[in-house]
Amino acid sequence: MPTPLERVRALNDRPIAPDGARVVYWMVATRRPRHNFALERAVDHARALAKPLVVLEPLRAGYLHACDRFHRFVLDGMADHAAFFRERRVAYHPYVEPAPGEGAGLLEALAKDACVVVTDDWPCFFVPHMQRAAAAKLGVRLEAVDASGLLPVSRAGKALGRAFDFRRLLHRELPSALEDWPLADPTAVEDLVPASIPRGVTSRWPRASAALLAGAHDALAALPIRHTILPTGERGGFRAAEDRLARFVEARLDGYEERAHPDADVASELSPHLHFGHLGPHAVLGAIAAREGWSPAELDPSARGARAGFWGTRPAAEQFLDQLVTWRELGFNACRYDEAYDRYASLPAWARATLAAHARDPRPPGYDLARLEAAATDDPLWNAAQRQLVESGRMHNYLRMLWGKKIVGWAPSPEAALEWMITLNDRYALDGRDPNSYSGIFWVLGRYDRPWGPERPIFGTVRYMTSESARRKLRLRAYLDRWGDTPALFS
Ligand SMILES: Cc1cc2nc3c(=O)[nH]c(=O)nc-3n(C[C@H](O)[C@H](O)[C@H](O)COP(=O)(O)OP(=O)(O)OC[C@H]3O[C@@H](n4cnc5c(N)ncnc54)[C@H](O)[C@@H]3O)c2cc1C
Repeated sequence: MPTPLERVRALNDRPIAPDGARVVYWMVATRRPRHNFALERAVDHARALAKPLVVLEPLRAGYLHACDRFHRFVLDGMADHAAFFRERRVAYHPYVEPAPGEGAGLLEALAKDACVVVTDDWPCFFVPHMQRAAAAKLGVRLEAVDASGLLPVSRAGKALGRAFDFRRLLHRELPSALEDWPLADPTAVEDLVPASIPRGVTSRWPRASAALLAGAHDALAALPIRHTILPTGERGGFRAAEDRLARFVEARLDGYEERAHPDADVASELSPHLHFGHLGPHAVLGAIAAREGWSPAELDPSARGARAGFWGTRPAAEQFLDQLVTWRELGFNACRYDEAYDRYASLPAWARATLAAHARDPRPPGYDLARLEAAATDDPLWNAAQRQLVESGRMHNYLRMLWGKKIVGWAPSPEAALEWMITLNDRYALDGRDPNSYSGIFWVLGRYDRPWGPERPIFGTVRYMTSESARRKLRLRAYLDRWGDTPALFS
């Protein structure tokens, strides 16, 4: 079945060139060979045109926040792909920029005599800007394919301000959207024309070295990226992502309703893998369906936006799917349909008004970004969460909310709080720079929420959270033993 056209957007108005030499898949966000509508689309073009398929997976050096941690994760994926595509009739070119700007011209060189270029539709960070620039330069058609969600992002048609509205849309539209399921292995076909990378390209932009792909420290250290943010030891790539998914479904899913408690350790920890596209939501839903003996026939569209009852699974799986689909895909909706998705101005009017009314409320002195970054506040629980972020590239979900709320209370203004949250999250979090980064961070300031009384200093009617209440409500002992600065205080 061809890739659903509702997932395909032409980024320029150039035609497909049937006499071209190749089809190019420019893999920039959906970095996986399986369950990937974009790769599937590129394969369809290559077969229909009887042309070779080249997969270009670049990694830039000069993007904001480029560091060893994120590079290592992407490089692990490239190593998986190099091994995977070696067995296929696909020419795979992993390119790692040795210096900012060195990759300029690579895509154009491959596209110059190509039939068509397919890329990933990714709605935030530098990607849309980079793709707009490429679309203007390329002489052939550039198509972006949305492979990020279970629901094609185009089905909403506009930004939705409440999770309830998104759920209602989902309940109406998902049954038909799931009729289009991406192929598990789109390059497992016999009739692709054998492919190679043109010599002029490999000599000017050589493929990433075996040492770099294999994880050699020296090779990574030679790149001009930030070396103080270290790899976490957690492997990236689609194989590690699939392993983690299997472990989650087997050992954690049943306990997922306990996920608010850090010590329960039942969350999936899939967000970095979803962020880098090493794993997609169809594979996740497929694994849950297999475990639960579930099929889409059990969806109940009469749920009409209700939080429970739509999926027809056990409550633990239903809660997980609500996060994975409603909350995750709501973030893609905001980034696609609200140009100001990462700007303060995109907050709802009630939130901006109440925060403005309290803009002059006194804040505790002495808190600046450097103090926060160093996890050196007077709040040990906050410090533990920040330390987890810096050292492991992750932060527990409940504590992530508290972490943001405390920053609002300490920063000189809500605008500064926003900037600090984005900086810290995107600098350290493996899953940062993602549509969900902005959902979560803007939620802290009122997006997708409603006013809550009583009115308080600094926050006005924006929802308020305290570390004291978190410590009362949550099971935290093991968490604080691991990440806290003074664990004895809590035992
Ligand atoms: C201040 C703040 C910043 C955040 N920054 C990010 C970020 O940079 N990247 C990111 O992916 N998520 C972010 N979140 C959302 C959420 O905290 C993480 O998605 C979640 O903790 C990831 O852990 P997990 O994969 O174990 O989640 P699980 O609980 O296992 O959930 C499965 C998947 O559902 C999605 N999901 C879960 N919770 C949320 C949520 N609240 N909002 C949106 N999607 C969700 C994620 O894709 C997640 O991987 C942020 C939340 C807050 C409050």
